[in-house]
Amino acid sequence: MDARRRAAVFLLDRLLGESGSDGEEFDDDFDPDFSDYYDDRSRSASRTSSEEDEEETRPMLTTFGGYDYEFVDKVSDSQTCPVCLLPMKDAVQTTECGHRFCNDCLHGILRSENPVCPNDRQNIKANGGFFSDKAWARDILCLRVKCKQITRGCHWFGQLRHAEKHQGDCPYEEEQCSDCGDYIQRRHLNTHYNEECPQRLVECAFCHHNYRFAKKKLHEDNFCHRFPLVCTNNCGALRIPREEMKTHISDHCPMTEVTCPYANAGCPFKDKRAHLNRHMESSVDNHLWLTWYSLVETKQELGNLKDLRQKYVKVQLVNAKLTQSSAEFREEIRDLSVAVKRLEAQNAKQMKQIEDLTRKLEKSTSEEKMSVDRRPFAFAGKRENADMINRQLNRGEIQIICPPPPEKRKNSSDNKPLP
Ligand SMILES: [Zn+2]
Ligand SMILES: [Zn+2]
Ligand SMILES: [Zn+2]
Ligand SMILES: [Zn+2]
Ligand SMILES: [Zn+2]
Ligand SMILES: [Zn+2]
Ligand SMILES: [Zn+2]
Repeated sequence: MDARRRAAVFLLDRLLGESGSDGEEFDDDFDPDFSDYYDDRSRSASRTSSEEDEEETRPMLTTFGGYDYEFVDKVSDSQTCPVCLLPMKDAVQTTECGHRFCNDCLHGILRSENPVCPNDRQNIKANGGFFSDKAWARDILCLRVKCKQITRGCHWFGQLRHAEKHQGDCPYEEEQCSDCGDYIQRRHLNTHYNEECPQRLVECAFCHHNYRFAKKKLHEDNFCHRFPLVCTNNCGALRIPREEMKTHISDHCPMTEVTCPYANAGCPFKDKRAHLNRHMESSVDNHLWLTWYSLVETKQELGNLKDLRQKYVKVQLVNAKLTQSSAEFREEIRDLSVAVKRLEAQNAKQMKQIEDLTRKLEKSTSEEKMSVDRRPFAFAGKRENADMINRQLNRGEIQIICPPPPEKRKNSSDNKPLP
């Protein structure tokens, strides 16, 4: 930034400072014309210190107003904005005093509490206090400028009206990498994307999956299933793919401790796999004997097993019988409960009959009692008769004539009967 520019920024700051406002307060009524300024300010705030080193070589986008180019043609004083001291951009003219400014610079003034022309302190009205000076702007656009990237080696120059288009294509301008966010000169961008960007996708030489270059170590140390590793048993194998390490250790590695294939027959050998072959060659007889003994044992166990099987069959038979009898019992219990129910019904019926009979009996008993009570009077009459006859017999007033037995009755037929 040269001294002229510094002074311009200082002047603008003072103008805004008088109104008691600062840059941040512009947010209140944001003007789309200022959007570039804001975008760049926020972008530069998030950049690192190494990026700031390059600040001087980048186009200055952080000031208001005019065209920030190195002009080939002479710029007259009247074409220079009195606020930013640069050739005017989108020239506007005040209606009161006729002074001209960049459109942005004038808007900067209008944001102050009391907007006045910096040349003559005349008031500027926000509405209708200025107009766009198209002819003035056109003259300025005809002036020739050099590319902003001249320091980087671009030798383009041309009319200001074409400068922005050139800047959009200039191979020395910087563009942001869409992957890592770094600013890279356009001419190096392809190389950056393909060979330098830490966020570029690369294909793994071992598993052929893609990963971001910055995560190469992470991929190789943790995720790549084909990454070659040194045997963890230190057998000397150097390039075992990660996914095959387990199989190598369990099935092939000569340093893995193994047991003899005849271990089940009782061989106690336990040593590195490298020593197994020698053991097998030297232990043929021993292995044969071990096999023989275990065969005998197996036969014996087989016999025991047969016994067990017979017992098992018997138990199963008993079990089947028990199951059958339990079914029969269940059936009998069902029949018995039916019979009990029938008996209960009968019992209830008989109980009712007994109750009826009892009632009838009680009734007849009470009637009988009444007739028995009358009987003494009848007996009394008969007793009196008997007493009277007895008295007459005793006085001889009457005689009892007993009839003779049947055979004597014929002989004594002429005997006088008693009176
Ligand atoms: Zn200006
Ligand atoms: Zn003026
Ligand atoms: Zn250029
Ligand atoms: Zn990148
Ligand atoms: Zn891989
Ligand atoms: Zn190994
Ligand atoms: Zn063995």
